[in-house]
Amino acid sequence: MKKIAIIGAGAAGLTAAIVLARKNIKVDIFEQNDKNAKKILVSGNGHCNITNKNIATSNYISENPQFIEYTLKQFGFHELEKFMNSIGLLLFSKNDGKTYPLSYEAKSVINAFEETLQNLNVTIHNAHRVESITKDETFTLTCKEESYEGYNGVIVATGLKAAPQLGGNDDGLKFAAAFGHTIIESYPSLVGLHLDSSVHESLSGVKINGEATIYIDRLKEKTVRGDILFTNYGFSGLAILDISQIASKALLNHQNVDISLNLMSNFNPQSLSAQISNLCKIVPQNSIYTVLSGIVPTKLALSVLKETNIQSSLKASDVNTKMVKGIVNKLQNWRFKVIDTHGYKHAEVCGGGVDTLEIDAKSFESKKLKGLYFIGEILDVIGERGGYNFQFAFASGFLCAQEIAKSK
Ligand SMILES: Cc1cc2nc3c(=O)[nH]c(=O)nc-3n(C[C@H](O)[C@H](O)[C@H](O)COP(=O)(O)OP(=O)(O)OC[C@H]3O[C@@H](n4cnc5c(N)ncnc54)[C@H](O)[C@@H]3O)c2cc1C
Repeated sequence: MKKIAIIGAGAAGLTAAIVLARKNIKVDIFEQNDKNAKKILVSGNGHCNITNKNIATSNYISENPQFIEYTLKQFGFHELEKFMNSIGLLLFSKNDGKTYPLSYEAKSVINAFEETLQNLNVTIHNAHRVESITKDETFTLTCKEESYEGYNGVIVATGLKAAPQLGGNDDGLKFAAAFGHTIIESYPSLVGLHLDSSVHESLSGVKINGEATIYIDRLKEKTVRGDILFTNYGFSGLAILDISQIASKALLNHQNVDISLNLMSNFNPQSLSAQISNLCKIVPQNSIYTVLSGIVPTKLALSVLKETNIQSSLKASDVNTKMVKGIVNKLQNWRFKVIDTHGYKHAEVCGGGVDTLEIDAKSFESKKLKGLYFIGEILDVIGERGGYNFQFAFASGFLCAQEIAKSK
């Protein structure tokens, strides 16, 4: 009987284990944490955004986009839905395609995986951190002083460095490098950004639904709409997270990263100027600060006035066209230089990883060593926010296990 070891009880590893065990293959999972799938539990704010109805290769970043294209062709939304149904989970999709368990609770996803594995007699060695993998006739895994021998195959499903408090690390990269694999340098992604400015400190806590445009070496790359949250270190919020993938990769390449915020994106410059001028006429005795506070949060009003060198106590009747233009420009095209990310601890995913050119796209087997497999986030594939990362983790786990079972 074939015996397979899986390192990592996350989305990818647990999926592979179910598929293998259903084909009567003996599976042992090794998980460093005392609990399984800690990232699933906290994902999607506790709701677990499992996948997305609208999946395309363009939702992913990788040095080798063909690899992800092939994966998604084999295992897309419907295949994942069928698999989730098979472990007792029903799904529902929102208008934007984001798909969740019908219970809308991440815990139910973990329950379904764990009970299915239990019923299939899969052994999970929790609190077992694998330190090394060796191969003679078969594979041996070493955890502290204990060794586990006789595996015909090993699946590395260790994830990467994002969220170390939940188990993120680079162990998988060390295993891959030990067998001669090329590593694409990793970087935090879906993460807040640090700025070369102190303005954000006085704005900390302000949340605006607006537009963020990212410029790399002064060239416009992408505009994203959504929440922008000022923090004590810079900014975050869904729009910033979405743009952070481009920012983080560019910073790694020592490129200049600038972000322009449009904090009043429902207005064009003319209509916003007209609104402000009109308000100044309606309440000429009020200060410009009070006038602006009628349009934007008070902290933002104060910062805009400071940045445009306008006294906050200035009477509305004394505000001239040039001042209004300056205010509008700040509110709609406020430029910030990005100097860093908020780091792996706060990142949802990690870019880079094992170079997929050295991985078989059908089976996820290493081209360097027969019987060694890599699945999930450890590979150089990351998705945008919206369920795309779990989709890849589940898909790679399923496809890898299916191929191992076929080669029985
Ligand atoms: C806060 C947060 C929210 C997220 N929300 C979403 C979301 O809603 N939708 C989405 O698509 N994605 C989301 N993600 C991303 C998603 O969680 C990951 O992309 C996905 O979990 C990757 O799955 P994986 O199985 O490859 O790795 P992981 O889930 O990271 O699992 C790897 C496992 O391997 C274990 N491990 C590591 N090294 C060893 C070792 N040496 N020995 C034994 N065990 C080891 C780790 O402890 C871990 O349990 C979120 C991430 C975070 C941090």
